[in-house]
Amino acid sequence: MIPQFIPQEACLKCQGCCRFRESDSVWLPCLLEEEIQDLLDKNIPAVSISIERKIQPVANPKGDGFICAFFDIAANECKIYESRPFECQLYPFLLNLRDKSVILTVDLNCPYLTDKLNTPEFKKYTQELVAYLNAPKQISLLKNNPHILQAYEDLGKTIELKLSDEIK
Ligand code: SF4
Repeated sequence: MIPQFIPQEACLKCQGCCRFRESDSVWLPCLLEEEIQDLLDKNIPAVSISIERKIQPVANPKGDGFICAFFDIAANECKIYESRPFECQLYPFLLNLRDKSVILTVDLNCPYLTDKLNTPEFKKYTQELVAYLNAPKQISLLKNNPHILQAYEDLGKTIELKLSDEIK
């Protein structure tokens, strides 16, 4: 599990994550190959995973748009929290592919993170996260799952990762 920056209480009060405007949103979590197998082993319906290896959203029962198939909207909680995908664990940090470089970016739509952006706490966490992602085990994991490297627009703070050298 990736150590978390956002306290769980803050996430539980927020209404931002796990909801999507479009059914093919770029923000839908992309799954590692081993996560797909793990979910299928847990008898999760195959229709919950799209052909692009993303979580297939369902219509939001409480309004417009879509929600993740694993989101309990009444409780505002992830139903698979303990085994949620790598991308969900990483959020609001994102691996962003830009001009053949892999950079770590942050989603400034996360209110908790935006409040903490210029704090020593944020700086320390980011350094630890970069070290974690640059470790050989994570580089190898990401090299084996290039489909999770996506191009996101309009994100804040960029730090290039060692992985860039591996995929160039
Ligand atoms: S798997 Fe869980 S954390 Fe990830 S988008 Fe779905 S409900 Fe949210």
